[in-house]
This record gives sequence, structure tokens and C-alpha cells, in this order.
Amino acid sequence: MKIEDTKRIVVKVGSSLLFDQDTNTLNSEWLISLAEDIKKLREKGKQIIIVSSGAIALGAKDLNLHMKELKMDMNQAVSSVGQIHLMSSYKSAFEKNEIKVSQILLTLDDTEQRRRSINARRTIDTLLNLNIVPIVNENDTIATTEIRYGDNDRLASRVAQISSADCLIMLSNINGLYSSDPKNDNEIKLIDKVTEINTEIEEMIGTSVSETGKGGMKTKIQAAKTALLSGCHLAITNGTINHPITSLFNGRPCTWFVPSKTPLAARKQWIAGTMKPVGSLIIDEGATKALKNGSSLLPAGIKSIEGKFERGDVIEIKTIDKNIIGIGLSGYSASESELIKGHKSDEIAKILSYSYREEMIHKDDLVLL
Ligand code: GLU
Repeated sequence: MKIEDTKRIVVKVGSSLLFDQDTNTLNSEWLISLAEDIKKLREKGKQIIIVSSGAIALGAKDLNLHMKELKMDMNQAVSSVGQIHLMSSYKSAFEKNEIKVSQILLTLDDTEQRRRSINARRTIDTLLNLNIVPIVNENDTIATTEIRYGDNDRLASRVAQISSADCLIMLSNINGLYSSDPKNDNEIKLIDKVTEINTEIEEMIGTSVSETGKGGMKTKIQAAKTALLSGCHLAITNGTINHPITSLFNGRPCTWFVPSKTPLAARKQWIAGTMKPVGSLIIDEGATKALKNGSSLLPAGIKSIEGKFERGDVIEIKTIDKNIIGIGLSGYSASESELIKGHKSDEIAKILSYSYREEMIHKDDLVLL
């Protein structure tokens, strides 16, 4: 992708770039070089949002603890110490380049609930209009296992999606996606362009080189799926050199994920980007065919139900052999769905004594994957 074709760019910074574990120090020279790159991008009229890790690493340094040995409750406490250091490092590096920054801490719920995600977007828009660079991190202090992203790769793709960014740059310590494991294969190739995440690409994940942060190639590929559905280009690149963004646009090797389909409407993008669907519906062959022809999902086609969910929650749609073929907003709760599954829509009112709608998932609330 050429720099001229971008307008709103999300830059994801991995902990390993900001913090040198061997010397236990912050890479301030690198951070200043990143700020210089961002200054240049802004001079070209680009809007920049940063998603940065590093709170736990910097907190552990301050408290003289080993980052890798921390349990969840310690992680939460340590991140609240480190987040201040993280932001003050960004503030000072960016101020040297006359850039104002702001802090945004998000929890999973802030992006997974539609209304809250719209609020987050509004704030990001306002900050960008004020010429400020928002710096986002997960609110690790209150995030527990079930309600957390846990890695900033998927958080960054969700931020890119809710803010309608057209480019997401993942700066990490790997060069990109490799065709196979470098340990077993001398012919290993860096894949320079991916337009669709099919099984061939998924198979490369298991063997790809991973980094030391919380994410790895798996979370990056999940992030890429969200980005592609939103019409957002995504680059995975090795950012360990100074001026990482300038060198990316000057052709440094990387993997570009390029959207090939017309992006979904914003509401459908949000549904498709859901990180943790709360349940699923297993459907029969007839319903699978009907969905592929653009129909809504009716209760008659449902074989079984998994998980606990309420009306309006995001759930997955699976075939009988458990392949996930879609995702959508449920018209009924899990317990209501148990009662109406396999029945015709005109029987709903008799079974439940009420009927919200005839569809289990309306086609406007449904995305086929
Ligand atoms: N939010 C975590 C932090 O700031 C990082 C998660 C990650 O490494 O992706 O330390």
C-alpha cells in the first residue's frame, strides 16, 4: 500500500519494541524516531491513532518484578503503575515533535457493546479533529480473563474498525507471515501479500515465528480478518529499527493484508468483528443453503443451541459438522431459542405466548463468514 492512499492510520506498538528486556530499559531513542515518523505522516494530512502495549513491562520494571511470572491480579496492579510510565514516555517523545497525545483505556465491553463502541468512536473523532494523537491500551487494571482482549493485536483491529481507519500497521519483532517454519525449512518465504484468510493461510500460523509479547501470529491473523472485513489494509512488519513507519513505506519487507471485497456496512462490520460471541446456533442443511442465498435464519432450521445468550447478543452460526459459517445478532434468548427451535415461525407466539419477530437472526443482522 502506498502512503498516499491512506487517510486514517492505526499504529500498533508491541511491548518488545518499547522495552528492551535484556537491558531492562525503555527504548527512548526508538520512541522518538516513531514520533518523528508520525510527525511526517501528519504533515501529509494523515490522522494517526496509536495502540500501545508496554504498561505491564514498564510497571514490572518499576516494581522490580519479572513480567512473565505475574499472575492476573498482579498484572492488573502492575499495569496501573506502568501505564503512567508508558504515557509519560509517549508524552515526552511526542512533545519533542510538537504532537499532543491523549490516553484512551478500553475494556472488551467498550467495543463489544454497540452503543459504547459508537461513544468510543466519537471521542476518537473529536481528538483527531483537535489534532491530538490518541494512544489506546486495554484497561488491564479492571480486565479479568473473561472480559479482556489480553492482546493488543485484536484490540488494535477493533479500534481500526470502529474508527473506520483505512490502514493498520502492526509493529512487532517479526518480519511478517512466513510460508513455513524457518527451523525446518531453508526455502522459507515471507508472504508479501494476502487478500483472503483461507485454510492455507491458517495453516501457516501454527508454524510461524512468534514474538515475545502477549500476542503471536494467531492473534495477528484474527486481527487481519477483522481488518479485511472492514476494508482496512493491514501490515505486519518488523519495527525493531528506528523510523519503522518510514522504512515500511520505503519498501521494507513485510506482509500486507489487502481487502479484496467491498467493505460491509458499518453495523455489519461491527457484528463481524465481535471478539467473543456468547453462544451459537447449529443449523440444518436447508437453512445453510437459504443463508447462502441471502435469507434470514428462521427457527425451523435450528437443530441445537450452545451457550447462554440474551436477545440482541452476538452469536455464531454453525453447520451440523460445527463449521462456523456466520455471525449475527440473535432475535431470541438461548432459553427462548430452545423452545422454538425446529418450529415454524407462525408457531412462535403459541409456544412462547409472545413473538418478537419471525426470524431467529434477521438478514440485516447477519454476516456470512
Ligand atoms: N495491554 C498490555 C500492556 O500494556 C499488553 C498486551 C499485549 O502485549 O498485546 O502491557
